[in-house]
Amino acid sequence: MTRIDDLPIREELRGKSPYGAPQLDVPVRLNTNENPYPLPEPLIERITERVREAARELNRYPDRDAVELRTELAAYLSRTGGHEVALANVWAANGSNEIIQQLLQAFGGPGRTAIGFEPSYSMHALIARGTGTGWISGLRNDDFTIDLDAATAAITAHKPDVVFICSPNNPTGTAVDAGTVLALYEAAQAAKADTAGALVVIDEAYVEFSHRPSLLPLIEGRPNLVLSRTMSKAFGAAGLRLGYLAADPAVVGAVQLVRLPYHLSAITQATALAALEHTDTLLKYVDELKAERDRLVEELCAIGYEVTESDANFVQFGRFDNSHRAWQAILDHGVLVRDNRVPGWLRVTAGTPAENNAFLDAVRALKKENPIT
Ligand SMILES: *Cc1c(COP(=O)(O)O)cnc(C)c1O
Repeated sequence: MTRIDDLPIREELRGKSPYGAPQLDVPVRLNTNENPYPLPEPLIERITERVREAARELNRYPDRDAVELRTELAAYLSRTGGHEVALANVWAANGSNEIIQQLLQAFGGPGRTAIGFEPSYSMHALIARGTGTGWISGLRNDDFTIDLDAATAAITAHKPDVVFICSPNNPTGTAVDAGTVLALYEAAQAAKADTAGALVVIDEAYVEFSHRPSLLPLIEGRPNLVLSRTMSKAFGAAGLRLGYLAADPAVVGAVQLVRLPYHLSAITQATALAALEHTDTLLKYVDELKAERDRLVEELCAIGYEVTESDANFVQFGRFDNSHRAWQAILDHGVLVRDNRVPGWLRVTAGTPAENNAFLDAVRALKKENPIT
């Protein structure tokens, strides 16, 4: 049998494994930060209508620049983000992962580097590798906040071309305040003062669940600052694959240099437009999920676990002597959570109240069986 490494594959891909959260067939799956509520029936009807219309023109290529969709995304951002943006500020792609890939294709690449502050979203490093961008792993404080002095020192020392700031951060749930982002932005520009500066990407995949407002207003007057968003989490549309960015129009121009022609299918555009018509219905579940997240925090503490303060739709909890063994024990109780390989910690997504109850029963039982796990 031919193995991957027998192929003439790029050196940096040899021996690597693909991204993958294990998808096991268990009753309660709280491992991938999805929204647990299916789309409401009226929206499913509207999607069907818009997709039927789009199907009549599938012999043609879709709108290459997704103008109608970007206009609606701009309206959503302007309504909820505390800052007015227009079509020219917004770009859309197949999930925010593709947004990040396009940004790294345009601003990273061979001979260039990107930095992230870990533990954080592992795809930033993986997409960096896939685009030939060098990866620098910055560290966090013990409480998972960004250590501003250490982060600034790392940026000054390594002079990265791209800086990732995930807020709220996956897998810890930690939000980053505007002051820290601005300080890192300034440090990144200063470190690359001999060139046109560095691109700072704020990944706001979970911002709708945050106690804090969006960092969107920070893009004003900062052409090297980009905000990345997704419809996969708060909108409950992970299967749609729709991500977007907000930035200076020049950044939108830059990603258009590397995107594949017609990257966003007519079906995707029609479905996303239908979903955006129902924004208020979709986001109605966000308040419920935030309340469930807060309940998980409270109950986990009451049971005797440590919890990282969360601004997202998930909670990092611990500590465990052996988090993988604890993960397995929770799975044995029928609940799948996420082992992000952060030593001592696991992550649980806020599900429906019934799913969360099942999870809490499982960790209560775990504590009883083995108080120190
Ligand atoms: C889930 C997640 C995304 C979403 O990726 P999509 O490609 O839009 O589904 C992006 N960033 C972070 C930090 C995430 O956790």
